[in-house]
Amino acid sequence: MTSRDAGADPPDVISEALADLRDRLAADEEGEVARYIPPLALADPADFGLALVSREGHRYRAGQSDTRFTIQSVSKPFVFALALTDLGLEETTRWVGAEPSGEAFNAISLEPGTGRPANPMINAGAIATSSLIGAADNEERFARILDVLGRFAGRTLDVDERVHEAEAATGDRNRALAHLLRASGRLRLDPVEAADVYFRQCAVLVDTVDLAVMAATLADGGRNPVTDEQVVPEPVAVQVLAVMATCGMYDASGDWMLRVGLPAKSGVSGGLLAVSPGRFGIACYSPPLDPVGNPVRAVAALRELSARFGLHLLHNPAPSAPTITTARRDPRTGALLVTAQGSLDFTAAERLVHTLRRFASTFTSATATATASGAGPTAASGAESIVLDLERVAALDSTALALVSATLARIEAAGHVVRVVGDAGRALGRQGSGDGP
Ligand code: GLU
Repeated sequence: MTSRDAGADPPDVISEALADLRDRLAADEEGEVARYIPPLALADPADFGLALVSREGHRYRAGQSDTRFTIQSVSKPFVFALALTDLGLEETTRWVGAEPSGEAFNAISLEPGTGRPANPMINAGAIATSSLIGAADNEERFARILDVLGRFAGRTLDVDERVHEAEAATGDRNRALAHLLRASGRLRLDPVEAADVYFRQCAVLVDTVDLAVMAATLADGGRNPVTDEQVVPEPVAVQVLAVMATCGMYDASGDWMLRVGLPAKSGVSGGLLAVSPGRFGIACYSPPLDPVGNPVRAVAALRELSARFGLHLLHNPAPSAPTITTARRDPRTGALLVTAQGSLDFTAAERLVHTLRRFASTFTSATATATASGAGPTAASGAESIVLDLERVAALDSTALALVSATLARIEAAGHVVRVVGDAGRALGRQGSGDGP
């Protein structure tokens, strides 16, 4: 364990909550362990691990969170991320679509007309995606895939050769999918090689904490919060999350979005990860699967957590602290004083520009000569002065910058005087002096 690990003595409240959830759901013995890849049948159905990794890289865990298992389909979003990084969205989506298929993971479902697989989260789409990874040969291609999976997980990962060989020996359906893709012109690689690179990526060994770190990396815009490495660019992380949100849970993706509402991916060995964007990654391992192929206890755990903590993506976020702390006329100078605080995003900036506009609408019109810097409230007939105190504003995002600068420019264009105080003023292209209002 590193100093970043939580859950040591005494137990922290987050690990305790995970342990409590785990203990309650462990009694559920529904579901069947996957058997079609023979070594998967050896998994212990009682194993149940949970892990959560925050955006700061703090790790919390409960149960069998260090049991190793093969990643299987949970590899798909991360290989898709590598393809998007290599080729960009336009080229990648020429080879694989982004529509939920509504069919089983191994369905022979290719888009009528184009022959493109529906999305990269089903096997046909994942085989097409893996074959997009640029390399001189299949060895190098797989080495690149293993490397990126490891960078998402924050450690070097290995392959379970036994599972790889077993899947290669039994994976005729996936090979058939690869041949069909090739026949419809949607596979850049020899079908046997394409299926094999896909089988090997499915046989990469992880534990539940690895999956939670991988999820947290997507939650933090592609930056691994444990290693601090930017593994993929932020827009790629967003594109991957979008496809996970619509297609990540096999043919239960719609129901998952309805009841849990987080981008997620599950796999046949019992792994599942979910992403709360900007907050944390969470993962579960529990081998018994429901008829659709999702781990029964993991689905129950995420449903409960989402409901209890309001994690649904479409949930209205908790109201932030007030943005405007002062909005009054300074009796000494006659200037209007507006003080804002916090980090300004669209919501906060809208509050600020609404306040500024409300004030500005009470001003009498002024001549345009009153805009020179240092001009006082009486510089021109009807000119008013606004002091905007941003001393306690930590940052403005790009939307806030655009809204606030345009509003200030309009007030000045109407002949009034605006003075911005605080360092945040520099971001607005203003002096942003440290002297008080
Ligand atoms: N290697 C597995 C297969 O292609 C992965 C399936 C899954 O996890 O959904 O059958």
